[in-house]
Amino acid sequence: MGIRILLVDGCTAYRKVVAGALVELGYSVAEASDAASGLAAVHAEPPRLALVDDRLPDARGLEFIDRVRALGVHTQFCLVIGPEEEAASCNEDHFDLRILRGPVHPSKLVREIHSLAGASDTGTPALAARPAPSHVSYLSEPPPPPARPGRSSDSPLEDVRRSYAAKLPAEIAILGKAVARARDLGDPASVTEAHRLAHAIHGTAGTLGFGEISEGAREIENLLHPGRFGDGLDHEKWARIERALARIESAPRQPRTRTSVAPPAPNVGTVLVADRDPAALVAFKAMGHRGSIKVLTARSEAEALARAHDTRLDGAIIDTDIGGADVFEICRSLRSLPGHSSLPLAVMSTDSSVSNRVAAAYAGASVFLQKPISDAELAETVRHFIASTTTEKTRILLLDDDEDFSAFLAGMLTQERMEVTTVPDPSRILDVLAETRPDILLLDVVMPFVSGLDVCRMLRSTSAHRELPILFLTAETSVESRVACFEAGGDDYIEKPVVREELLARIEVRMDRQRLFRQRADRDALTGLFSRRAFVESLNARLSDAGRRERPVAVCLIDIDHFKSINDSFGHLAGDRVLAALGRLFSSRFRANDVRGRWGGEEFVMALDGEEPDTARMILNQVLAEFRRMVFEGDHGESFTVSFSGGVASFPRDGKSIDGLLRVADTHLYEAKNLGRSRIEG
Ligand code: GH3
Ligand code: MG
Ligand code: MG
Repeated sequence: MGIRILLVDGCTAYRKVVAGALVELGYSVAEASDAASGLAAVHAEPPRLALVDDRLPDARGLEFIDRVRALGVHTQFCLVIGPEEEAASCNEDHFDLRILRGPVHPSKLVREIHSLAGASDTGTPALAARPAPSHVSYLSEPPPPPARPGRSSDSPLEDVRRSYAAKLPAEIAILGKAVARARDLGDPASVTEAHRLAHAIHGTAGTLGFGEISEGAREIENLLHPGRFGDGLDHEKWARIERALARIESAPRQPRTRTSVAPPAPNVGTVLVADRDPAALVAFKAMGHRGSIKVLTARSEAEALARAHDTRLDGAIIDTDIGGADVFEICRSLRSLPGHSSLPLAVMSTDSSVSNRVAAAYAGASVFLQKPISDAELAETVRHFIASTTTEKTRILLLDDDEDFSAFLAGMLTQERMEVTTVPDPSRILDVLAETRPDILLLDVVMPFVSGLDVCRMLRSTSAHRELPILFLTAETSVESRVACFEAGGDDYIEKPVVREELLARIEVRMDRQRLFRQRADRDALTGLFSRRAFVESLNARLSDAGRRERPVAVCLIDIDHFKSINDSFGHLAGDRVLAALGRLFSSRFRANDVRGRWGGEEFVMALDGEEPDTARMILNQVLAEFRRMVFEGDHGESFTVSFSGGVASFPRDGKSIDGLLRVADTHLYEAKNLGRSRIEG
């Protein structure tokens, strides 16, 4: 039996979080929600250590401690006092008393208890030395990065989340009642009660990952703050409270957590290998076994489709020569299965001729493997598959003068596969923003010399940073300071100590909005391809990457032939259908890393990563042939077919700037038009 710890705290959810972690550490934990039941627990069996909240529903924590001491038991105490409380007012004679100023993050509390109980423990020294097991690491220092994205492991926290989720409807109903009462009676006591309930839901729901519920509760808490309430609230504020309540009531009752997504993955990845040679498949299985890669095998197209159906795959490797079937058809069928539309593909063959490589790229394979394939090549391919499906990391910039805090937060966010840059000095902010181009800025408010509010105002007055999501982080929790954060142009406000789940939920909400906004702004509505601006941005990144890795990029300009007369003969709507169809064709061919955009009108642009102009021309000619086979219908039922012409320029041979490359591509496009159209030059 482990050391006995008693937790006396009015907040059940908070108690559960702490108790869960302590049990995991091998302690025996008793819980009490008020002083009376705390005393009963002491009577039943005196604990080695009692953790006591100073504001218990029926007494002050210090009174409780005095009453326990009067019983003559040898219990050590840890008292959590309010943020404004004078620590000195807690009797200095309480030599066996550790005082913590609330709110204390559960992780800190657990560490504190662990060290106090460990230090006082002579009976079982092993316990004190025992580190927290990995699955409670969310309550201690950041654990090492998970093997797979999105993995974390926190079963005790999951349990608390589940039980809190079950209780939530009741808690929300009680809050609704209290709000109604406060509005009807308008007396300070009922307002204070509603405020208290909103405060509890705000804190606990946030800690446990119910981000939206917590935010709604926070709004109610703010509006009902006794200090602001004064002579009552006007109609408009009550309406806001009602809206916040409605938002809470309709918010998801599932915590935002990544844990449920993560499958227990003993393997590095799962791939489907299609090859008609059974001996090759046996060899792949063995390679997979050695490299902890789960290999599913198929000997025909039909078998490949059957195996891929309803199976989560990291990618598929297809032999060009499978059962005589066209590798392009298999790739297309695989990607048309539900859930596999962006399945990473590799094509393998004993013959690495250009025509085979072109066929592979045209089929959408991002990797070409020449047989025989080694263990290392298989492992590398799977790594590439996984990397290509992992969405781009969220880039975070953190400006805070407290470097310990920054390091801790950076560790926590990095573990969530975010890319974090920290900067302690506000004077460098513009340079660092330009260098790192973050998705979100986390900004401390109180810093020496310059306040975070001023930094925020300064950024909002610069056009480049007007849209940058800014989240304030601060321990200053007064209503005035929150209002100041929003007035300065901040998007959100997070209290220190930062609760991991809350921070992640808020970042996620911001990122979702940002992504949606970007997607709308980046995509051309008719063709679904990148807009000109987004294409240029994306190509810039691609070119600098290719420059570093000394790889070529083929930049292609494509223009539909005689489009004006198509509009004139078959109608503008038919013309639009042609544009949309070509957009779809471009999106569904090529590889995920090829950049495709609508340049304007009936002109398209494309950048094929790692391709020399010869192969790029061949790939485009194949798409052209497919496009020419499509039959369109005019506004009056007529049938017609369409072609396009293209010009190709090669990075770095024809230039290093986008402008220069497009000029060369345009010259070649002009040649193609002059030579009779429906062809690719360059
Ligand atoms: P060429 O083969 O030399 O490229 O001839 P073209 O007729 O395609 O070239 P031109 O540049 O003269 O005509 C382009 C036409 O594309 C003119 C314009 O009305 C039409 N167009 C541009 N944008 C759209 C659009 O969004 N929808 C439709 N239906 N037509 C468009
Ligand atoms: Mg044109
Ligand atoms: Mg044209």
